[in-house]
Amino acid sequence: MIIVLRSGESASEVEGLLSDAGAEYRRLVLYDRDLVVAWPERSVPAEKLTNHPAVEAVVKAPGAYQLSSRAWKPDDTKVSFGGAVFGGGYVSIIAGPCSAESREQVLETARHVKKAGAHALRGGCWKPRTSPYSFQGWGPKALEWMAEAREETGLPIVVEALSTDNVPLLEAKADCIQIGARNMQNTPLLRAVGKTGKPVLLKRGFGNTIDELLCSADYVMLEGCGSVILCERGIRSYERSTRFTFDISAIPVLKKKSHLPVIADPSHPAGDKSLVEPLALAALAAGADGLIVEVHAWPEKALSDSKQQLTPREFQELMEKARLLVEALGRRMP
Ligand code: PEP
Ligand code: MN
Repeated sequence: MIIVLRSGESASEVEGLLSDAGAEYRRLVLYDRDLVVAWPERSVPAEKLTNHPAVEAVVKAPGAYQLSSRAWKPDDTKVSFGGAVFGGGYVSIIAGPCSAESREQVLETARHVKKAGAHALRGGCWKPRTSPYSFQGWGPKALEWMAEAREETGLPIVVEALSTDNVPLLEAKADCIQIGARNMQNTPLLRAVGKTGKPVLLKRGFGNTIDELLCSADYVMLEGCGSVILCERGIRSYERSTRFTFDISAIPVLKKKSHLPVIADPSHPAGDKSLVEPLALAALAAGADGLIVEVHAWPEKALSDSKQQLTPREFQELMEKARLLVEALGRRMP
């Protein structure tokens, strides 16, 4: 349950009531609102709290997630880093290679995506690969190449944390920390990235429900991080024509249930570059607040996900169509 305090009021009596009732609670300031999150529901003395002078509202969101729910925050949350803005009418595009493979590859790709109008650069430095014999990423030195690309182009960088070991370095060097599909329910990692206060890009696990994604967002938010971007990237189904089944309905459903911005990754469900543009445009039409797209200066040479990465030229064409679509829908790119 979420207890919204009146501004300037002390939380101490509210905390006292919760302790006496045997509830657990966490004090937070999110979006300039003073909150106390309390659980389990049966231990929260809702009536006493509702009538307390320091309390503005006591909200129980339906479902197991609370902080990511629209139930207590009906307005859209806007998340921004560098020049990228997601949500609240803004659409931004994150683009770059699946993996940061060399200094030259990162810089060359960054220059191209910047020129095409991307708002942020992606590039995996620690890669979650299905096979242990596949390329695993260059680690810290790849992060240096990403930081150099930011210096040169001004694009903020989005880099995935594969484990809690990566978090201190990413906190120091990345502008947004990505949690990959395979780690969506790695709760120590969710808590660790939440503690950094950095914007977090949280991808839906390919075997997870929409509500489970929102519960994972709550893990991050409970550490005081309000800047969470949700990402639909395809789920496992019986269909084998695509790498994953792109769950387009997840976008409007997430927008309805949550105040957080929702973006889409058309590259991983496509698995094939010819499908990336239609999935990307469909996601924007369905209300996505942004995209994360894999682009490589030389896709045929890529060390991971070679078939789905767009060339700079293909990305530029996608950007032109995306911009037209976004404007036609009454939203804007920063
Ligand atoms: C990625 O974006 O680099 C990635 C590994 O994607 P996902 O976690 O969605 O598989
Ligand atoms: Mn990839």
